[in-house]
This record gives sequence, structure tokens and C-alpha cells, in this order.
Amino acid sequence: MASAAELDAEQLYVANLNTVEFDLDLPTRGANGSSISWSSDNERFVRPDGTVTQPRYGMGPRDVRLTATFSCPEGTVTRTYPVHVLEAKNDIVVEHVHEARVRAELGRPCWLPAVVIVDTADGRLVSHPVEWDGGIEQTFDELGERHVAGHVAGTTYPAEATVEVVARLEPELAPTGCAVDSFDPGAARLDAGSELFDQQQRSLAFLLTVDDDQMLYNFRATAGLDTLGAPQMVGWDAPECLLRGHTTGHYLSALARCYLATGDVRVREKAAYLVASLAACQRALERVPGVHAGYLMGFPEEQFDRLERYVRYPEVWAPYYTFHKVLAGLLDCYDAFGDGLALEVAEGMGAWAHERLSRLSHEELTTMWGIYIAGEFGGMNDALARLYERTGRHAFIDAARLFDNDKLFVPMEQGVDTLEDVHANQHIPQVIGALRLFEDTGERRYLDIARNFWDIVVGAHVYAIGGTGESEMWHHPNRVARQLSEHTAESCCSYNMVKLTRGLYRHERRPEMLDYYERTMLNHVLASGDKHARGARTYFMPLAPGFHKEFDDENSCCHGTGLEDDFMYADGVYYHTDDELEVALFVPSHVDWEERGVAVWQRVEQDRRGFRVVVSFAGTDSRFRLRVRRPLWADPEGLLLDGEPAKVATTRDGRWLELERTWHDGDSLEFRLPCSPRLEAAPDDPDKVVVCWGPYVLAFLTPSSDFLRLGTDERPLDEVLVQDGDGPSFVVAGTGTRVRPLCMLEGEDYQVYVRR
Ligand SMILES: [Zn+2]
Repeated sequence: MASAAELDAEQLYVANLNTVEFDLDLPTRGANGSSISWSSDNERFVRPDGTVTQPRYGMGPRDVRLTATFSCPEGTVTRTYPVHVLEAKNDIVVEHVHEARVRAELGRPCWLPAVVIVDTADGRLVSHPVEWDGGIEQTFDELGERHVAGHVAGTTYPAEATVEVVARLEPELAPTGCAVDSFDPGAARLDAGSELFDQQQRSLAFLLTVDDDQMLYNFRATAGLDTLGAPQMVGWDAPECLLRGHTTGHYLSALARCYLATGDVRVREKAAYLVASLAACQRALERVPGVHAGYLMGFPEEQFDRLERYVRYPEVWAPYYTFHKVLAGLLDCYDAFGDGLALEVAEGMGAWAHERLSRLSHEELTTMWGIYIAGEFGGMNDALARLYERTGRHAFIDAARLFDNDKLFVPMEQGVDTLEDVHANQHIPQVIGALRLFEDTGERRYLDIARNFWDIVVGAHVYAIGGTGESEMWHHPNRVARQLSEHTAESCCSYNMVKLTRGLYRHERRPEMLDYYERTMLNHVLASGDKHARGARTYFMPLAPGFHKEFDDENSCCHGTGLEDDFMYADGVYYHTDDELEVALFVPSHVDWEERGVAVWQRVEQDRRGFRVVVSFAGTDSRFRLRVRRPLWADPEGLLLDGEPAKVATTRDGRWLELERTWHDGDSLEFRLPCSPRLEAAPDDPDKVVVCWGPYVLAFLTPSSDFLRLGTDERPLDEVLVQDGDGPSFVVAGTGTRVRPLCMLEGEDYQVYVRR
């Protein structure tokens, strides 16, 4: 006889789940008496209690899988229900449409912007598709100012473009020389004695355990080659998953970065095997009928055809995103190992991309890149520009420009924050590419895009840990305390933001960029890694009270960037010009300044009161200015120059210690950075604070989902927190709640934001 659970599982009808626009009524008890519990594989759109959140207009519909577990005394039965959630209607109410301005050359086709910036009645700034009378591509036959009318797409609101027609159009250029240079990757290395170093070692240990044939599985299977009995990939790389292959690209980059960071030859051997095997896949794919020359992916070329027909997610899942990971991985291998075969394979891929994309119209391209998820292309513009730098082939820089994304670039060029409801990590890599395009072309527009974007994100969209976005999306500017959840701060966003920051700092040399960099590196990037050499990473870093880190090893985007993350730590520690050396971060490490024949060593010791830093020099005598960053969290004190008390100048902006002299072998500068707990309030709620110690953001170890109240209005913070170890280790007086840096936590429940 069937049990109550079996009968209920058989009989339960939920609703029409094919076109869902409203909340679902999910019963918790079946007609035959079993109890029913629900789970959802995407709680953003359908929660287990049946609450439905429709994707915003423009995101496309989403497919979610609900699972019901029917229980009765005789046992349990589960059933899954696919749910198709429709995207929301275009309910935009336009208050004001910003005028679009472009320049055009007389008699030559020009492209009007694919978007206009719109102020909505509900207080948002939106970069919205526009339709111009006469189309997006137009030619003007008279000099002077021309006006083109149009309307905001999907509405009747009018839009206007002013076109300045000139006889000869030259792009506005800016000098591309760097204000300060980074050292080549590998010149600086971490030394033992920090959590950063330990994490790097754990990631090295993990890389050595990876099955390279498994990483090649999807590529060999797609190319019709023997998979050598390797197990299939899992998670987002599983053979049925359309994003398969992306982790292999990250893995190539990780091996390359790991070699530069550690010099371990075992990872070089692994990389060489992968590159040679991928080259074999590329050759085999060329023999497959219908596949175009140079193609190399772990899935058939058909996904790219479908994207060109504007097929949406989940039928198409970001094929250029995956393509970017593999291309970037090959370039990283070429850079790290000088592997010519890696460059050859990358050139083939680049030629394939140029061939395919250069025959599409501007309109087709902007439509593709505007499609949510399916059109996500990672940093294709960055990788193609890198390919151009390494080969000199102009086709690659031309191809890089084909990824100019009006939806993001138009508002960012003007410094207008239209990031609300925009997917964060879909767009950050595009800006890294914009910066690279500036470096390769000198076009000021690309630098403006990168700079304005950085200012907007860091100025109005980051949490105290440096992470950005909630449920993968940006929200209204300066919403921090009001946007705390289990789904805050996706890890891959910080991977890309610190990468952008390193690149931009070389041009801008603004100390606040280093402040952000240090904050994010320690409190999000480092904090996202697991401590067990499993190569796992957090996806989100929960900032609502009472959650804990969950580490993901299912080949997600964040898992992929996490493979690379731990080998970048040394890259941002030192910078230089011809006659200056900058110490930007305080980490046990050393750097070879080859041009000067000088090695710089940094020792950092942490104790109860803060850090003791010693910067010392080895090598030939050399005259240069040493600049040591003055962090916002400590005033350097107790300065000793070669062991003697010394006065060292501070720059006018107060952000650098500066000392110019001839440095001899064995010279040193020593100082202390005193630390004590301090509060940082959320920008949108003075009652919500985080507690920091030096560069660390601290976490309160408690499972409570009610915000802890510190009571710092009644008594000072150093009475509330009692230090119970060396460095940033405290307990809350009276309750005994332990307080530790977020980056040191593993699976403990915690609160980062607490009440004052
Ligand atoms: Zn991610």
C-alpha cells in the first residue's frame, strides 16, 4: 500500500509553473497527511516559502527548480518542479531623458549610442536601450550640429541625440605613460609569516592535487579525442553545463600565476601538459566539419551561433565568458613560462573571434552584449588587447573594440552612476578591458570609463570588507546597512576589482586606491579562501547577522577566480618609478629591483599593539627616494634609520613617508604601526558599524540573527572589547563573545555589522 508521502507526491498539483509572475502557494501538508518541505535552487527568484521575485525587465525569464520533500512515518519522497519565472514588464516611468552627444565625421557612417541615460520617476538612473529614427548607424553630409530624434525603447518617451559633424574625426588622446610602475609579476614574492603566505601555500598544495586530464575532459570530448579515462568535470563544468571549460581557463592562469609567485617547477610541468593537450584539441577541432579555424572550447561552436540569434539564458550561457577564461589562461602561460605554443593556440582563438565578430554589425554586437548572462563576455576586450600587445596584429585590437558595451561605457564615460540593478561581475572585467584599451590606443575615453567606474563603485557600492554587490547585483548607491543579507559580496567581483585597482593605480597614483586595495585584499579576497587546501572559495560573503562562510568547490565563477587569487598577493606590495620605490602594503615579502641592482626586504611582526615593520636593502649602493604608505589606520611611530632614531618627512597630502638618500647594502628603515579597535559606521545608518583593528575588519562569533549591540555610546570601545591574545583577538566584556578578523574564520557563525 502506498504511504501518505507517496500518495501526496503523486497527487500534489502546485500551479501552472510555466509562466510564473506571482507568488506560489506551496502547501506544507498534503491531502493524505504527509508534511511537505520545500527548497529552491535559486532563492533569488523563488524562495522556499513560494515568494516569487521576477527578474527585472531586460534580464530575461529564469528557470528555477523547486524540490518538495514529502514526509510521513513510513518514509520520505521527493519531487522536483521546474518553474519558469517571467521577467517583469518594462514598467519604467521616465522623468527625464539625458541628451546623447556624439561626434561624427562628415560623409562616414557613425554609430549613435545604443542607450540613453534616464531618470526614472522612482528615483533611479538607468542606462536604457534607445531607438533612433533612421537607426543606430547614420551618415551625415553636412558639417555642424545635427539633431536626431528617437524614443526610449519599449516606451513612447522621446529621446534626442546631438551630433557634431566635423570634417575629420580624431579620437581624443591622453598620455599613456604610467605615474608609477608595478614590478613584473614574479619580481616580488611573499615570505613566510603572514596569513597571505599561508593561504598561498595552501593554494599551491591544492593545484598539485588537480587531475589535469579531468581539466581537459570537456575539451577532448568536444574535439572527439580520447579522454584517457579521466573523470568528468562537475558543477558548472559538468558535461551537460553550457559554461563548461571555464575552470580550465582559470586553472591555466592559476598555474602561471603560481609559478611566478612561488617558482615551483611542478606547476610549470602541469601547465606545459595542458597547453600541449589543448593545442591538440584545437587541431582536432579543425578537422570537425563545420568548425571554424582556431576554435577551441569545451562545447560545440553552436552556442555562439545561437547568441548571434539573441537566444537567451538558459539556452545560451555566456560562451564568450568561457572563451575569455581559456584565452586569458593561455596568455598567462605564455607570459609566465614563455611557452610559444600557448601563444600560438591563443592567436588561433583570437583570429577565430575576429573573423566571427567583425562580420557582425554594430547593432548586432551591442544587442548581443546587452543580453543578460547569455551576452556576458568576461574580459574578452582585455584578453584580445593583450594578444595584440604580444603579436602586434591589429586584427586583435580591432576585435577588442568590438566588445565596447554602450550600456556600461556610455554612462561611465560621463561619470553617471547607472549601476543600480546591474549585474556586478558581468561588467567589472569589461572595465579592466577598457583600461587596457586606453593603454594600447591612448584614447582618453577608455581611461575616463575606467576611472569613473572605479570612483562610482568604490564611492557608493562597497561594504566595509571591500566586497561589492548583493545577490550578484548592484543596488541603489550608498545602500550598505540597508542591503545586508546572506548574499552579499560575490567573491569574483573582488578578484576583478583589485585587478582593476592595481592597473588604475599605475596611472592615477591615488592613495585611496591603495586603501581600498588593502581593505579588499585582506578582508574579502583572503577571507574567501578555505583553510584546507581544497581549492574552495566562498561565493557570497554573508554580511547579515548570524550566517557563516560556505565554501564552494563546484566550479562556479568565484571558485575559478579563487584558484588564481592567492597568487596575486605580492603584486600590489611594491611600486616604483625611475627614482622612487614605494612600499604600498605591509606584508613580509621581498622584491628584486633589477634596474637598480637592489633587493628590498620587508619584515612585519604583529603583536598586541600593532605591527613592527622593517624595510631593508641589499645589493649595490643606489640613490633613490623611498616612499612608505601611511595607512589611514595608524600613524607610524618609533622610526629608526639604520637602528638610530630618525626624522622622516611626510608628503604634503599626509599619505607617504618619504626619504631620499643613497641606500647601502644592509641599510634599513624601521617603524611601528600602532593599532587599536575602531568603529566604522555604515554610510547610510550611523547606528550600524563594523569594528576594525589595523587593516582587519573583525567578526563577532555568534549565531544570533539579531544585531549585537556594543553599547559604545555608554562606554568606550576599548572597555567593550577586551584583548585576549596577540593582535586582533578580543572578547566582548560581559558576554564573552569572541571577536576575530573575518579573514581568519572558517565555518563559524558571525556578525560583521553590529549596532553601535
Ligand atoms: Zn562569482
